[in-house]
Amino acid sequence: MLDLWYSEKLSEGAKFSMLVDEHIYSEETPFQKIDFFNTKTFGKFFTLDGLIMLTEKDEFIYHEMITAVPMAVNPNIKKVLIIGGGDGGTAREILRYNTIEKVDMVEIDERVVRLCQKYLPSTACKLDNDDRLKLYFEDGLAFVRDAKEGSYDLILVDSTDPIGPGEGLFTHEFYKNCYRVLSEDGILINQHESPYYDEYRREMKRSHSKIKNNFPIAKVYQFHMPTYASGHWLFGFASKKYDPVADLKADEWNCFGIKTKYYNTDLHIGAFALPNYVKEELESV
Ligand code: SAM
Repeated sequence: MLDLWYSEKLSEGAKFSMLVDEHIYSEETPFQKIDFFNTKTFGKFFTLDGLIMLTEKDEFIYHEMITAVPMAVNPNIKKVLIIGGGDGGTAREILRYNTIEKVDMVEIDERVVRLCQKYLPSTACKLDNDDRLKLYFEDGLAFVRDAKEGSYDLILVDSTDPIGPGEGLFTHEFYKNCYRVLSEDGILINQHESPYYDEYRREMKRSHSKIKNNFPIAKVYQFHMPTYASGHWLFGFASKKYDPVADLKADEWNCFGIKTKYYNTDLHIGAFALPNYVKEELESV
């Protein structure tokens, strides 16, 4: 019997591979190519244009870290805007907080949502059964351009990389509009690429420099994502008012009583302590 391996190129000389049981589905949409696979080691996973978006085994790390960090800095967040996030994992996590009143989710490609509802119900499970959530199938860049000033407390940019449809979500115009639509104590969290391989590091620096130009507080935090390039991944934390460590409200977050597998309020502080080479790269922009 032949082994079927899925491989993702990380740099000229490195690949990450998973042994595949089955290539479940493939579709080309007007925006991107979507593929679903099954594996023994990581459960189901899906790719967009050949890049791993999530696996069932490690998605909890990404989705807890994108949502719990801002909720622990401002536990009074009520109105949330998710850009991208078609698999539903970010929506699922933020909706665990009963204090959240409204979540608008703007995904450019409806097919990602529909296919994740079919093949990945563990992440898409909250996309059709929570009245607080409203789905919009449009470009996030255009959505924030038209959104009202001060209308959200939190924006979560759960995007693809800055090639293809995700490109506009890494622009100066996008971050400027995010600032405008956020409330006075608003927070922006964005998928901030990775410091390790050259191409990813370049994008990390580009997006940090643009966010720094638009927000008075612009920090970066790290987490360990086994199936992303190098396993070392970052989110950006930008805010009008709050410092993510000095303003951490650990007791209040712990009072939510949310059971997490990765995030805790000690790790929160550590996540902002970056390795020297990453600090230097970010300071150089
Ligand atoms: N957590 C994953 C990661 O970082 O690899 C991926 C999150 S999610 C699948 C990314 C989503 O962003 C995709 O479904 C894609 O369709 C969506 N997306 C890309 N560009 C967009 C845009 N301009 N506006 C709204 N959604 C966009």
